Amino acid sequence: MKTTRSISTLLIMTLSFCIFNACSKKAPEAEPVSIENMPWVIDRFDDIKVLRYEVPGFENLPLEQKKLIYYLSEAAKCGRDILFDQNFKYNLTIRRALEQVYTKYDGDRANAEFVAMEKYLKKVWFANGIHHHYSNDKFKPEFSRAWFEQMVAKYVEPQEGAIDNALLYDIIFNPELYAKRLDQTDGVDMVTNSACNYYEGVTMQEVEDFYTKMRDEDDPRPISYGLNSKLTKDKDGNIVEQVWKLGGMYSAAIQQIVYWLEKAAQVAAEPQKSIINTLINYYRTGDLREFDRYNVLWVGDNTSNVDFVNGFIEDYGDPLGRKASWESTVNFMDSLACRRTQILSANAQWFEDNAPIDPAFRKKEVKGVSAKVITVAMLGGDCYPATPIGINLPNADWIRKEYGSKSVTIDNITYAYDKAAQGNGFNEEFMLREEDRARIKQYGKLADDLHTDLHECLGHGSGQLAAGVKGGELKSYTSTLEEARADLFGLYYLGDPKLIEIGLIPSLDVAKAQYADYIMNGMMTQFSRIELGKNVEESHMRNRKLIAEWCYEKGKKDNVIEWVKQDGKSYIVVNDFDALRKLFGELLREVQRIKSKGDYEAGRKLVEDYAVKIDPEIHKEVLERYGKLGIEPYSGFVNPEYELVENNGEIVDVKLIYKSNYVEQMLGYSKEYSFLPSIN
Ligand code: ZN
Repeated sequence: MKTTRSISTLLIMTLSFCIFNACSKKAPEAEPVSIENMPWVIDRFDDIKVLRYEVPGFENLPLEQKKLIYYLSEAAKCGRDILFDQNFKYNLTIRRALEQVYTKYDGDRANAEFVAMEKYLKKVWFANGIHHHYSNDKFKPEFSRAWFEQMVAKYVEPQEGAIDNALLYDIIFNPELYAKRLDQTDGVDMVTNSACNYYEGVTMQEVEDFYTKMRDEDDPRPISYGLNSKLTKDKDGNIVEQVWKLGGMYSAAIQQIVYWLEKAAQVAAEPQKSIINTLINYYRTGDLREFDRYNVLWVGDNTSNVDFVNGFIEDYGDPLGRKASWESTVNFMDSLACRRTQILSANAQWFEDNAPIDPAFRKKEVKGVSAKVITVAMLGGDCYPATPIGINLPNADWIRKEYGSKSVTIDNITYAYDKAAQGNGFNEEFMLREEDRARIKQYGKLADDLHTDLHECLGHGSGQLAAGVKGGELKSYTSTLEEARADLFGLYYLGDPKLIEIGLIPSLDVAKAQYADYIMNGMMTQFSRIELGKNVEESHMRNRKLIAEWCYEKGKKDNVIEWVKQDGKSYIVVNDFDALRKLFGELLREVQRIKSKGDYEAGRKLVEDYAVKIDPEIHKEVLERYGKLGIEPYSGFVNPEYELVENNGEIVDVKLIYKSNYVEQMLGYSKEYSFLPSIN
């Protein structure tokens, strides 16, 4: 349950404010990689900007850890095609046709049709498919069908087993066809309405019946049925799972992933060696019990400096929240930045005991809250190019309850966002009061980091279900409500004097900075990422809107939050920070109750009433004002590269090379790391 919190609002920082001194160990000096004169923003197109990130500290790692990162990074790159195919059945066919035209084209590259196709292809790479990564809407090509037909005839070789060209053109150019990757509209058949490739030839009712039958109500350790398979029908009309495993669906890519994981296992020390081997065994068998065993081992490993995520993990891409997209990250501990989360972990029980929720839903004993700050070294699958800034895994509720969860915040990614956003004029445009802007300038990054820590380290792991409640009752509202719960936990405690007492913040102005920013984002500025007339769909965005709108309404009589009109512009301002904090507490209590009781109806109502519909007037104004700033609302990253340095056939070092060309990286990945047929 990773956070992908709005980065466009954490702005101007002149210095990276470092509070992490207590646990710093002086690392041996090594030659830093030169990245002088390399800009942070390396490409811009449509609503996207592409950044690079640095991997500070890599050079100083021991050779064995560098090798481990290298092998795990190779594994991370091998699953890219899987995600393309999961997102939509014809994505690989389309990507390959576009890439062939793009690379072989020998006409004028400044030609308007070609330029429009290049932009479309850049978007397809970014979204891992032809639907927007955030809004889920199919891209509208700005080049003509007639021109593209000519280009395909001239440059594109027939792809084995792929669809015929007429269908290919229809998919790209007919806006009605496969219009949404994910349709979670209340009351529709979300399975048949969504273009994602997790189901085929089955209805939502059939899917629900299929998995209801599999579920063992009495199993205290329920299997995440359906997590690693596509559900479809065989020739005789029986519903069957096509399992993603070696020898199953996506076998060719999984074989490569396993190859590199085996290399990684050879250089890893225990307990990591066994953990990687368990993961390999899961990829071989597709056995979800094995995946649980892997997760239990993985969550228990808090000592390995290098760590990774690799597998079918998050279910945001499935309208029913059951099937998981493939993703990977490789990272190592940021030893300079651990103080903050160590302090939170040490006080985990205090936070649980003092949470403003029904005591019946508090965990009696908070276990295994492991918290750390990491430096990411490679992003793959659903974490690339758009990436989370924190990770909280595993997702299975029973493992979280019995073994805890691992929470990390990714400091080198937030640092890059921060650097790229400096001086873009955003806060000056949308934030009315100078004192709010000043607080954000002074405490913005600290406030945001701490909120992420509280969300990831304590928020998701807090609370417990009532007896008899299994989880899953909230269905399609699960993610939004779970993110709201974790965000509220963070918001509530950010304003607690306890944080001053334990030395995490110098004053409650840190909370004020976050509160003003959060409300503004939830009720206004995040709509800059949504097309006019559309609803809020993505669960993190829904959660922010839910919280902000609910607090606005409940605090209306006391003017806690207020709309202000000035010089024809609308602003949302917080007048009473203490009252707002109380409202956060009240809503946390209610959202926790909904989760603990599995109260679907109350959850549905909260989301539908506060999180989905946008006031069209405000939406229009935000888009206009935001548009004038010329800031792209979405960001993603190119990865660095790692190169083995060999001497007499022996690996003596691993070299880190920063890359600054988005197109080059994408074409390179499509050439070197593409293992699946066009249709799977
Ligand atoms: Zn979260």
